[in-house]
Parts: sequence; C-alpha cells; structure tokens
Amino acid sequence: MSRSKLLLVAVVAILVIAFFAFDAGRYLNLEFFKARHEAIVAYYQTQPLAAALAYFVLYVAVTGLSLPGAAIMTLAGGAIFGLLWGTLIVSFASSIGATLAFLASRFVLRDWVQQRFGRQLRPINAGVEKEGGFYLFTLRLVPAFPFFVINLLMGLTPVRAWTFYWVSQAGMLAGTLVYVNAGTQLAKLDSLSGILSPGLILSMTLLGVFPLVAKKIVDTFQARRVYARWRKPDRFDRNLVVIGAGSAGLVTAYIAAAVKARVTLVEKHRMGGDCLNTGCVPSKALIKTARVLDQFRRAPDYGLKNATVEFDFAQIMERVQRVVRTVAPHDSVARYSELGVECLAGEAKIVSPWEVEVRLASGATQRLSTRSIVIAAGARPFVPPIPGLDEVGYLTSDNIWNLRALPGRLVVLGGGPIGSELTQAFARLGAKVTQVEMLPRILMREDAEVSAMVMNKFREDGIEVLVDHKAKQFLVEDGQKILIAEHGGRDVCVAFDAVLVAVGRVANTAGYGLEELGIPLAKTRTVETNEYLQTIYPNIYACGDVAGPYQFTHTAAHQAWFASVNALFGVLRKFRADYSVIPWATFTDPEVARVGLNETEAKERGIAYEVSIYPIEDLDRAIADEVAHGIVKVLTVPGKDVILGVTIVGDHAGDLIAEFVSAMRHGLGLNKILGTIHIYPTLAESNKYAAGVWKRAHAPQRLLAMVEKFHAWMRG
Ligand SMILES: Cc1cc2nc3c(=O)[nH]c(=O)nc-3n(C[C@H](O)[C@H](O)[C@H](O)COP(=O)(O)OP(=O)(O)OC[C@H]3O[C@@H](n4cnc5c(N)ncnc54)[C@H](O)[C@@H]3O)c2cc1C
Repeated sequence: MSRSKLLLVAVVAILVIAFFAFDAGRYLNLEFFKARHEAIVAYYQTQPLAAALAYFVLYVAVTGLSLPGAAIMTLAGGAIFGLLWGTLIVSFASSIGATLAFLASRFVLRDWVQQRFGRQLRPINAGVEKEGGFYLFTLRLVPAFPFFVINLLMGLTPVRAWTFYWVSQAGMLAGTLVYVNAGTQLAKLDSLSGILSPGLILSMTLLGVFPLVAKKIVDTFQARRVYARWRKPDRFDRNLVVIGAGSAGLVTAYIAAAVKARVTLVEKHRMGGDCLNTGCVPSKALIKTARVLDQFRRAPDYGLKNATVEFDFAQIMERVQRVVRTVAPHDSVARYSELGVECLAGEAKIVSPWEVEVRLASGATQRLSTRSIVIAAGARPFVPPIPGLDEVGYLTSDNIWNLRALPGRLVVLGGGPIGSELTQAFARLGAKVTQVEMLPRILMREDAEVSAMVMNKFREDGIEVLVDHKAKQFLVEDGQKILIAEHGGRDVCVAFDAVLVAVGRVANTAGYGLEELGIPLAKTRTVETNEYLQTIYPNIYACGDVAGPYQFTHTAAHQAWFASVNALFGVLRKFRADYSVIPWATFTDPEVARVGLNETEAKERGIAYEVSIYPIEDLDRAIADEVAHGIVKVLTVPGKDVILGVTIVGDHAGDLIAEFVSAMRHGLGLNKILGTIHIYPTLAESNKYAAGVWKRAHAPQRLLAMVEKFHAWMRG
C-alpha cells in the first residue's frame, strides 16, 4: 500500500478509535438532544450562522468517517433549524460527507477489491457503468440500505465521483425531507422507534417503490414515444417474421414453429446463410483436405518411406461444394416448411414496427403483418478502403469458394481466425502464402504464447507471416500485382497473384428499414439491443452476427433461443441473453480453443488468477499420433477450485474444450474433472492431467508431512 494510502487509513483509524474511546456517541443520541434542545435552539437564535456552520461540519465529519449517528443528526437538524433550513443544510452536508467516504473508499480499496473480486464484480461494474446513476438513485431512496454502506461500496465501482455526488443529493432529498420533518417533532418524540410509525413506514415504502415505478413509467413512455408515429394494425397475420435464414434466423424460426407460433422466415439469398454456404462448412471441408495433404507430406513421421499424392485444386473445391450440398438439406426450405415454418424467398424490409414487406424473387411484393420481428440479417466481410485494392481485385470469404485454379502467390490480409484458417489451408494446398497483419501477432485475442505456437507452425508450413505490417497501397507494376505495406516506418513490397481480404466482418444493417424506423446501431456497428435482444422497439429483436457481440454460429443459435422466446412470450416473461460461458475455436493446426478468460484478459480486467499448464507433448496418445505439441492452460481463482477460463492448443482442441465448457457452465471445478475416468489412451486425458497439475500445486503439504510420519510409525 502506498504511503499516502497508509496515511489516510491511519488518520481515519485514529479519528474513529478516538470517537469510540471517548464515547463521543453519547452526544449523538436522542436523549442528549432532547435534554439540550432548548439551549441549542436558543444558541441558534442568537448565533444562527455559527450554529449552522458547526452543525454542518459535524455532520460532514460523522458521515465522512462513516460513524453512527447520521439519522439522529438529521432529526436534530429538523429540530434545530426547522423544515426548510434543516433540509437544505442536511442535504448538502450528507451529500458532501457521503462523497468524502466514497472517495476515501475508492482511494484506499478500489484497486485491491477490483483485482481480488473483479470477476464477481463484473456484472455490477457493467450495470453501474450503464445505469450507475439509476442504481444509486434507487439505493438512496430506499432507506433499507444503510447510508454508510452505500458510500463505501459505491467507491469500489466505476461510477464517477460527480455522478455519485449529485445523484446522492437528489436521491436522498425525499428521505431527508421525511427525516427532517420528523425531526421538527423531535421534542415530542420519546424514542427512535417513534419515528417508525405506520405513517412514516408507509411513506418510506412508497419512496422505495418509487424508483421502480418511475423506471416502469419511463420504459412505457419511451416505448410509446418510438411507436407514436406508427399505426398499429388491429390484428396480425403472424406471430413472428424472421429476416434472414442463417444460423440465427433458422434457429429462431425453428423454435417459433416448435411452440406452434405462426412464423415466416424470409431469405433473400441462400438458406443456411454464411455458415453453410461461405463460412464454417466450406472452410472446414477445405481445411480437412489440406490436413490430409499435410499428413501425406509427413509420411516419414509415421514410419512410412514416402507417400506421394496427386491432386487437382478444382476437384478439391468441387468436393467442398459437395459437402455444402450434403449439409444443405438440414437448412432447406423443404425441411423448414415441414417443421411448420413459412419460408419466403425474397428481400425483406421492415416498413413499420409490425409490418414487413417482402420483394419476392418474382418481382411481386408481399406485405406481412406480425406481432414481433426478429432481425437475423448477418454480416459480410469488411473491405478496408486501401488505395488500389479495387483496381487489383480481391477475394473475400464470400467469393473465394468460386476459385477453381490455385493462386500461385496469395496474400492474406488479416491475422484473425478466418484469415489464419484460410492462410494455412491454401499454403498446404501449395500456394505461396504471405499473411499480413498490422498488429504485433496473429490471433491477437489469444495469449501471446498461443499466437506464437500457431505462428511457428505457419512458418514451418512455409508461410511468410508479416506482423506489424500495415497494408498501405495496392498497385500493378509491369503486369505484376504488388502490395505495399508499412513496417517500422519503411515500405515493404509483396508481389502476389491474388489477395484475400479477411480483416473482419461488418453487420448488415442497411437497406431493410432500420434507417426509416430509426433503429440505432451500437459503437460496433451492429444493431443495438438490450439484454433481452430487443431494439428500441420492444417487439423488434436482433440476434446473430447482426447483433454481436460474438460472431459464431453457436452464439447465433444461442441468442436465437432468447430472441424467439422473448418475442413470443415476452408479455409473460423475458429472459436475459446469457453470455457467461462462451467457447470458440480457431481451426488452424494446431487448433486453438478457448472458454472463459485467458491471461491477457484477466490482467486487463484486474482479475486475480492462477495458471496450471499441461504440455501435451507428454501425452501418450499424442505421442503415438505424432501430434505431441500444444498445451492445456487453465486459469483458476487463486486458492480455489473455480475455473476462470481454459485455452487448449493442439489436435482436436475444439472437441477437447467441451469438458471444460460443461464444467464452467455447471460450476464444476478441477477436482471433479480429476475425479472423472478418462479413457486411456485418448487426447481427452490431457484435460485430466491439466487438473492434476493444478491439484499437485495445491497438495496439502502439512497433511502430507503428517501422513509421512504416520507411515514411518507404521513401519515401526
Ligand atoms: C470463412 C468463415 C468461417 C467461419 N467459421 C466458423 C466456425 O468454424 N465456427 C463458427 O461458429 N462460426 C464460423 N463462422 C462465423 C459464422 O459463419 C457466422 O457467425 C454465422 O453464419 C452467423 O449467422 P447469422 O445467422 O447471424 O448470419 P448469416 O449466416 O450471415 O445469415 C444472415 C442471412 O440473412 C440474409 N439477409 C440479410 N438481409 C436480408 C433481407 N433484407 N431480407 C432477407 N434476407 C436477408 C442473408 O442473405 C443471410 O443469408 C465463419 C465465418 C466465415 C466467413
């Protein structure tokens, strides 16, 4: 603890100890005030300013030091100064005192508390950051929460000091009035319990309920305001219209049909959206072929003299399309129609909060009226405005699947999951790939050593990985396509035949009515929703890539449940979208899978953690399979069997992580994983061994020493 903090703690401690040691509390009780009431009032009448100032300073000191007696002082304020002046003085003194206590708690404890209990405090911090003023207002109005506790606790949250001050003053005003008013009757009261008369309790209860009622009124008012300019149909043809038949839209429609709602699913392009047609499915099919090729190249590792393989790139890409076609029936119009979903092929546009117009493939339009709408319009590749990019022509994850000739030299812009997966796949298929990333490493969301493992493998695969390189310009010189990237203040030129742009994805938010309805976008350029996935129109929801914050098929499907259920049953009960345990994987070799926190995030958020790492190079099955590389890295709460997050790097990491996802989801710790039988020899054993690493670090040393003595004694 710094010297200034120690000094503050010492001063406060001395004052508080002195207060109790000299029994100063006896001056802050009802009897004392009652006995001297007349004398104090007489003094106030002769020296009003001095009396008010002394009272003010005393009040600030009592509240600032969180000493007991604020309630009595408030009553005394009423008794001495009357309702108006009493309220005014107490209002300022209590707010200033509270703010001093708040600042002291923040100065001394906040960093430590946030570091120690950051994870538990995360939802509170988020709530306070978003609606801190309202929370505080509620707490101030409800006298059930002790005044000093609120001051000290609020100091530990991110709420701003100025917000704390004025919200406290405003929030406490009504309560101050009630207490000061009661204080004007002080002389007539015999004990503090007299204050808690039924009348006063009722007024306090009303004060407590007031902010909730106020919030409800504000919500209703806001909803009315957004709907005001629209005419609501008298009745609706449908319960739900879903825009977009990707992962999010399909699951939304599926759930709606399953619960017998009348639902229409509108898709303007291809059923299945990105995942099926241009995302997960084709990319994983291509990665598989690239892996098989790599296996052939590694024939000597498996004791084979050599293995040659011939292939035609066009055939590989045709196989990718065959896989897509094989999966397609799962997402087809036929299947969904059978499930009870009305499927329309056409472009949807929201024309009012209850109406969607569909421009059908035939050119005709159809207007659908619906009680609720779910927007599941997905995202598309983001193409940065780099000079010359349009002129040289570029590939994205949308059109790369149309290639039938392998580019000789491929530049991949972007070191995220999509860029990295396709970089390695194309390199293994024989392209000379240069991956260009402007950040210091690829897979920037993962820990540095994880990025390094993947990057090393890429370099082993012959990929040129250029990190810290910012693409600046594209040009054609003597018929040669060239990328100019900036690196450490100088220009680096990379010649290429094709460039794949994979620098992120941007939500589809234009052209289907959001602008006309005034539905706002978040900072991330996704559709802004609340925790129930509602837009500013409570009957219009958004989920999947268009809403974020995650852009995975499984999170789109997860959100779809909330959007669908809230849209159909929200009048009865709404569910908050739950993002507490979200896993994901990047299907490079080595594969990277994660759930929960990694070290980088834990440090950024000031969350205390312990790390247990099991190196997969020790695992029997991995050795037998020639895949003995990678790690299982588990973060836990220091000294506790609570998992904060897991990263697995290695073969089948995306499958192996499932055990930890279940554990975290259901609050199980590493002891439970250790106590579970894992089949020998499997890669899954690595999870158990990681738990073992943690267990060994927490072995009860004292008990073991005693047991050792016991064994010695048994030996005689
Ligand atoms: C190369 C690549 C690999 C990926 N790999 C993985 C992976 O391994 N695992 C994973 O979890 N995720 C992966 N993803 C991400 C995953 O594909 C997306 O997160 C997922 O598809 C999002 O689903 P969605 O329903 O939100 O959007 P989409 O799938 O994009 O669906 C939106 C649909 O809405 C339609 N639409 C838009 N506007 C309208 C309109 N006005 N009217 C009618 N229809 C409209 C679109 O045509 C589209 O079909 C990958 C993505 C890419 C690009």
